[in-house]
Amino acid sequence: MHHPPRGKDSSDDRGPDRAGIAYPIASASLGWDRVMTGVRALPEPALLSAGFRSLMAAFPAGVCVVTGLDADGQPRGMTCSSVCSVALEPPTLLVCLRTASPTLTAVLGCARFAVNMLHDRAQLTAELFSSGEPDRFQRVRWLGAGDGIPHLVDDAHSVADCVVIAAHQVGDHTVVYGEVFGVAVQPAPQPLLYGLRRYAAWPRH
Ligand SMILES: Cc1cc2nc3c(=O)[nH]c(=O)nc-3n(C[C@H](O)[C@H](O)[C@H](O)COP(=O)(O)OP(=O)(O)OC[C@H]3O[C@@H](n4cnc5c(N)ncnc54)[C@H](O)[C@@H]3O)c2cc1C
Repeated sequence: MHHPPRGKDSSDDRGPDRAGIAYPIASASLGWDRVMTGVRALPEPALLSAGFRSLMAAFPAGVCVVTGLDADGQPRGMTCSSVCSVALEPPTLLVCLRTASPTLTAVLGCARFAVNMLHDRAQLTAELFSSGEPDRFQRVRWLGAGDGIPHLVDDAHSVADCVVIAAHQVGDHTVVYGEVFGVAVQPAPQPLLYGLRRYAAWPRH
């Protein structure tokens, strides 16, 4: 009996490439089952991981710095684009932080966090807070909000203050749900974006 090669369709040679990156999902002739077949056909977890990274790189997002206080009351924070609105009533969002992160430990420890949404002149701060530099809070201007959680006053166009209501570990990351109890929003924000592995500014016109 003839079997088509794994990951290939006998009538169409545009199946997933061996790097697990290029999928013909833009083709109108393809249904979702074909796309899913392509995903399942990837042979190596490492290739699937690379494909997933490329998939999400093609989904641009705003850039935030999630901040909290550690057990000694010291500021902790990290660049984060995995931020999502969850509910309007009560206003709730989620952030996904790597489980080994000292920022995550701080956020869960103090049960509070702030989501500092960066503006388009704050790329250096996004890079600083994703760099592993331990002195990151000495290199930006920040103020403790009412509960002491850091607000990046020069770099954020908007800030959400949150109380942790749930956390779930998923793989190597932890999803933290925060009920928003305070917001500061600039009237005409110019958000910093990250997609296709580079920073960009929201178009001004
Ligand atoms: C655009 C963009 C989006 C990203 N989105 C996400 C995301 O959604 N989720 C995610 O998990 N990652 C994301 N990252 C990656 C993340 O920003 C980095 O992995 C970041 O370095 C994690 O910071 P951390 O607080 O976990 O500590 P690390 O930077 O890993 O800490 C390194 C070392 O410095 C020490 N240290 C850290 N902070 C302090 C401090 N204040 N004082 C003293 N010592 C300190 C730590 O103890 C540790 O020894 C993103 C990166 C970029 C560029």
